Amino acid sequence: MYEIITKKKQGVELTTDEINAVVNGFTTGEIPKYQMSALLMAICLKGMSTRETTDLTMAMANSGDQLDLSALEGTTVDKHSTGGVGDKTTLIVAPIIAALGLPVAKMSGRGLGHTGGTIDKLEAIPGFRTEFTTEEFLHIVQKHGLCISGQSGNMVPADKKIYALRDVTATVDSIPLIAASIMSKKIAAGAKNILLDVKTGNGAFMKNLRDARELAQAMVNIGKGCGRKTAALVTDMSQPLGRAIGNSLEIREVIDVLSSKKNAPQDLIEICVALAANMLLLSGFGDISVCMAMVEEALQNGAALEKFAEMVAAQGGDRKYIDVPSNFEQAKYIIDVCAEKSGYVCEIDTEGLGIAAMQLGAGRKQAGDTIDYSAGIIMHTKIGSCLEVGDVIATMHTNMPETLDIVTRKVISSLKIAEVKPKIVPLIHELIQ
Ligand code: URA
Repeated sequence: MYEIITKKKQGVELTTDEINAVVNGFTTGEIPKYQMSALLMAICLKGMSTRETTDLTMAMANSGDQLDLSALEGTTVDKHSTGGVGDKTTLIVAPIIAALGLPVAKMSGRGLGHTGGTIDKLEAIPGFRTEFTTEEFLHIVQKHGLCISGQSGNMVPADKKIYALRDVTATVDSIPLIAASIMSKKIAAGAKNILLDVKTGNGAFMKNLRDARELAQAMVNIGKGCGRKTAALVTDMSQPLGRAIGNSLEIREVIDVLSSKKNAPQDLIEICVALAANMLLLSGFGDISVCMAMVEEALQNGAALEKFAEMVAAQGGDRKYIDVPSNFEQAKYIIDVCAEKSGYVCEIDTEGLGIAAMQLGAGRKQAGDTIDYSAGIIMHTKIGSCLEVGDVIATMHTNMPETLDIVTRKVISSLKIAEVKPKIVPLIHELIQ
């Protein structure tokens, strides 16, 4: 290990055998944390080549259980978002894809800090189960074309250990380490085709477009190097996606989009159509215009909504919440936040709004905290909105009235107001393949 650390410190490429030895040794506990920390810092400072990053990904993916999806008919396709605020795209895209006949065996995560997690959102539906044996999980995908579960216990243990160490050694923000961490979980989850949604902006992990592009390209290179068809969309996260932030509020917005409700948010629809169409494109369904038309049809004709309701029932959830969303329990306090200044919204502190929703009860400060599914924020403003004093900019939902004052201030200060209409940034920056 001493020699390997020295090599990386000098910027020399590590061999495949060295990378395998490090990942295996650290996962089994033979390599101590202090040496692994030194190596992680050297990687942070000196980087890794595409070949090294691919080797690291494969070594991590091979460190535990991997899903074998070969029993599923047809090609399998997965998506991954690097996360943000109000990102409920999986819950719309997965049923669209399944309704079009491609099996979706999706493993998702929980929320922490300012970002939400797909599994928490689904658990807002009473009865919904997210833990299955591999046999049960595959059986649901075979029978219904779709299952979304939490990650199984022994998948990619190397990532769990390495991530915990990165978290306390200031080595999280290394593009090869992030890329290998994300892609090892995607490779272990078994799908042949992978579409990545790399978010950029003040609510994302990658705050600027250059870093987001670099991460997207690194992950696409790894996917291809591991024999998976992989592409990435770089998309905007400089404001919350859609209007709803918070678990059951987001499920209701998902149902609005899947039922083509007139008031469904256009930005969310646009991103979901682009993601789903690119998943079809990767899977050989035709050119992008054909794929877009198929996706729009699955939304318009109700097939995607029906597939979502079918998945909810198959995973133990109560379908009546999907058929009649007003069945979701509402928070006790539903309070508007009003503008104190007139002008155009030119910037939104997205991360701040994610934290504000967490303070209302929608998220966890620490892993293991309980969450209030009914809590959150509905935003009524977007970048470019023109406000008058007193206009309602957001509505807070909570069962903790003591948080209302502080969150009101936070929501108001999250909007930067100017006299001139701002330039609107595109929602989808580019496709990387
Ligand atoms: N998400 C992951 O899964 N890993 C990282 O390193 C960063 C974000």
